[in-house]
Amino acid sequence: MSLALYRKYRPSVFADVIGQEHVTVPLSNALETGRTHHAYLFSGPRGCGKTSSARIMARSLNCEKGPTPNPCGQCQSCTDLVANGPGSLDVIELDAATHGLVDDARDLRDKAFFAPVHSRYKIYIIDEAHQLGPGAANALLKVVEEPPAHVIFIFATTEPDKLIATIRSRTHHYPFRLVPPGVLALHLEKICDAEGVKVAKGVIPLVVRASAGSVRDALSVLGQLLAGAGKDGVSYEIAIQLLGFTDGALLDDALDTIAARDGATLFKTIDRVIESGHDPRRFTSDLLERLRDLMIVDALKDSTANSILRDLPEDQMERMRNQSNRIGAANLSRAADIAAEGLTQMRGATAPRLILELICGRILLPIGDNGESGMLSRIERLERAENMAPPTSSAAPVRNVEAKEKAASTHSTEAPSSSKVEAVPPTVKAKQSAPSAAVKAHVPGNFDIAALRRAWPDVIEDVKKRRRLTWSLLSASAQVLSVDEDAITIGIINPGAKESFERSESDLILRNAFIDVVGIDRKIAVVVDPSIDTNTPAARETRTSEAPSDPNQLSGAALLMQELGAQVIEGK
Ligand SMILES: [Zn+2]
Repeated sequence: MSLALYRKYRPSVFADVIGQEHVTVPLSNALETGRTHHAYLFSGPRGCGKTSSARIMARSLNCEKGPTPNPCGQCQSCTDLVANGPGSLDVIELDAATHGLVDDARDLRDKAFFAPVHSRYKIYIIDEAHQLGPGAANALLKVVEEPPAHVIFIFATTEPDKLIATIRSRTHHYPFRLVPPGVLALHLEKICDAEGVKVAKGVIPLVVRASAGSVRDALSVLGQLLAGAGKDGVSYEIAIQLLGFTDGALLDDALDTIAARDGATLFKTIDRVIESGHDPRRFTSDLLERLRDLMIVDALKDSTANSILRDLPEDQMERMRNQSNRIGAANLSRAADIAAEGLTQMRGATAPRLILELICGRILLPIGDNGESGMLSRIERLERAENMAPPTSSAAPVRNVEAKEKAASTHSTEAPSSSKVEAVPPTVKAKQSAPSAAVKAHVPGNFDIAALRRAWPDVIEDVKKRRRLTWSLLSASAQVLSVDEDAITIGIINPGAKESFERSESDLILRNAFIDVVGIDRKIAVVVDPSIDTNTPAARETRTSEAPSDPNQLSGAALLMQELGAQVIEGK
């Protein structure tokens, strides 16, 4: 393969330009009807056919039997201007990116008035036109404003807005677009056939995705794959390795563990992703794409999904059907939101691995009963538990220190080692590296009753979702009186309500609400306390003061990570 695929398969007529029919059809019509203009602007992303189309336009204009959208291919001009041909004296290509073009532009201005050497038109193709310096642009402007009848300009640029307005306004503007995946895939398949190289199922979609709609990039990648093809052609495995793609197995592992809510294995998988040299951003982007694919699979239960996902191997489709079934539509959608948000955060982030881990952590958290973001309620719960812990907890039991150490080693990028933790003053420590709230919640000690009371309205709200009766018994007439290692004691304003509470086994409801909202598991004791005024200014004060801080702050995220770290350790 001596010639790069992109050059080898460069089109010579508009009919062979792929994915730009919105441009090539009207241009062909203009050529057909003789309504051509003296200046064109071709804009659009790189590698999608602007320069090729400019050359085709020149060839179409200068064919002896033209202007025509179907140049004869026989005449001198056609053979000169065929793709990879010798070129024509009358078609002058200038690249504004190489230098300011000032001299070229002056030269052009002077020479433009001479008639073409042996063609109908003298055609100037000015590539990267947005990089024309002001001097060059002004020199050109005069010709563009009042061109001789034999001169045609074609400006090509990725950034049409940067082309000076006085020139832009004199052009017919044709915006090129990225090529749709389906069109590009067909094109690549044809080229593989033409090259006589067998390509395994799934390879073309990989190439299409890697090129993101640029034909030039796609052909460059494909050329590399075909060059390295063995006697059996290009295998899926080789394609994955060569393209630096996330190994499908890693992605499958990640999705399988998300489906199983298996945090321990998911974080091990992330470790493998990093260890094997994959870029966390790329992995996240692939994860997001896979979640999208799974949503498509979920939406189109039948085999039509594969027609949209473009020819994935059947075993891969089967695996994805399985994953989408197990994860479910709501969780897929939520996970995609989380991954997309994380991907944005990764731009410019110094610790993309940390963000990838946070993404996975968030995806694993269950959706809240009330349909709100599960993460938010979970973080809030952790922060409450954090506030409730006794202020001097550095003398934590050995088990917890070990847990912290393991957590630190599992997430070495963000959790300081426990020796550091011990060295920092307690106030700083609480902000920077709060020990696992979930672990701490089980530490016996003097819980801050004020903090528990602060959480009471949320506990009551949680109770309401569980059982309406229990909620009505508590909502206006109960308060937290005390908490110790064994029990949370609730005072209820009248004996009748206390009796109903006990008879209806509402203590279990309340106990579970405490577990869910503040992460503390205690038996519930109830006493009659007619002195309760649940609506004093002081009571309201404790409810509103020191409201949970913004859950998006790092403290919440760090707590979240530590809880997940604890889950990893416990092998949940
Ligand atoms: Zn011709």
